[in-house]
Amino acid sequence: MPAQTQLGLMNHEELASEHERQSAKYTQLKAEDLKLDLTRGKPSPEQLDLAADLLTLPGADYKDGNGTDCRNYGGLAGLPELRAIFGELLGIPVQNLVAGNNASLEIMQDLVVWALLHGLPDSPRAWSAEPNIRFLCPSPGYDRHFAITESYGIEMIPVPMGPDGPDVHEIATMVASDPQIKGMWVVPNYSNPTGAVYSEDVVRALATMPTAAPDFRLFWDNAYAVHPLTEEFAPSYDVLGLSAEAGFPNRPFVFASTSKITFAGAGVSFFGSSEENLAWYQKHFGKKSIGPDKLNQLRHLRFFGDAAGVRAHMAKHREILAPKFALVQQILDDRLGASKIASWTEPKGGYFISLDVLEGTAARSIALAKDAGIALTAAGSAFPYGKDPEDKNIRLAPSFPSLGELEKSMDGVATCVLLAATEKLLE
Ligand code: PLP
Repeated sequence: MPAQTQLGLMNHEELASEHERQSAKYTQLKAEDLKLDLTRGKPSPEQLDLAADLLTLPGADYKDGNGTDCRNYGGLAGLPELRAIFGELLGIPVQNLVAGNNASLEIMQDLVVWALLHGLPDSPRAWSAEPNIRFLCPSPGYDRHFAITESYGIEMIPVPMGPDGPDVHEIATMVASDPQIKGMWVVPNYSNPTGAVYSEDVVRALATMPTAAPDFRLFWDNAYAVHPLTEEFAPSYDVLGLSAEAGFPNRPFVFASTSKITFAGAGVSFFGSSEENLAWYQKHFGKKSIGPDKLNQLRHLRFFGDAAGVRAHMAKHREILAPKFALVQQILDDRLGASKIASWTEPKGGYFISLDVLEGTAARSIALAKDAGIALTAAGSAFPYGKDPEDKNIRLAPSFPSLGELEKSMDGVATCVLLAATEKLLE
């Protein structure tokens, strides 16, 4: 190790020898012929196994507590008993929460499309009849949110993300004066990818701020509501109640799902909102479906029993996930800490760690990793239009690989980050 470890303080000679050291490490890494993947935040097979009992439920007893035959058509709002469990966890009254099919993303996309085609209950006209529509996008954020808005030509305005949410003063100023800003993407708890948890003050400000658009919506994606990595659950603040009290009952569209609780491809989604929004939603949903998969909802109801059952199940996920997140933190500390060219988040929940490397080197680090057989999420993907203005962000998803694979991948990532940084500093 050279005497000076901070890359930014090294003289040319020290940097050149550090570059040589990392190049040698990289050559070794490539020789290992790895095939590792740190891209998507998928549950590992071990996590999916935790919900194996779902595969044999509901058995021959296919009626819910109200006597509904779950094999048949109908019940657009989903099973009341399951909605009550998730209503308790999300802080949403059961009449304000519907249960759907397996993907909350599908509901988000439907809402955007129906707002464009029909307008929302309080829209002066269909969104597509407006000269243009804008959405605020806290960044780094969730790439699939941005993909929905981009695919329908909605202009995305990036807003920098902080540890307890974005800057609400900046947001309040923008929405107060621009009637074309119709929406904002929000992941309030353990956000993707930084792990930020929106503070109560931030939630209150977003729920109560005046907006120029009468039909402004918070797309409140509480995908990680019950996904802490510690024993403490971050609260889900009552964004519906706060908005209603401020005179904006229709503002929040709240989403959640069991994708990271039971089976990512075969869970249950939830949509919470005002009664007026839900009636509007069901009017349109009723055109595309005669009812959701109630058997799967019944399976989930029997599997969990109650809200405490969900929390207990999440503790089992935590036992699998927490050591993986701890390992990533340790490798980042050991390999990148002294260099002072990188910083990273230390999430208390969720599925991701957001790594910031030396400005201008994220794309190069990701390309180096790819050539060494380590797949990382594409550069810029956590930003609207895939453009990271500083080319420094890398999203790490530690959930899927085994601990052994994770150790190899992260050590490799650190080598790529240091190699890209020394290359840049030697330019
Ligand atoms: N929302 C966020 C913030 C996510 O990170 C993900 C998956 O990674 C989803 C939604 C996907 O949810 P679903 O499987 O319910 O469509």
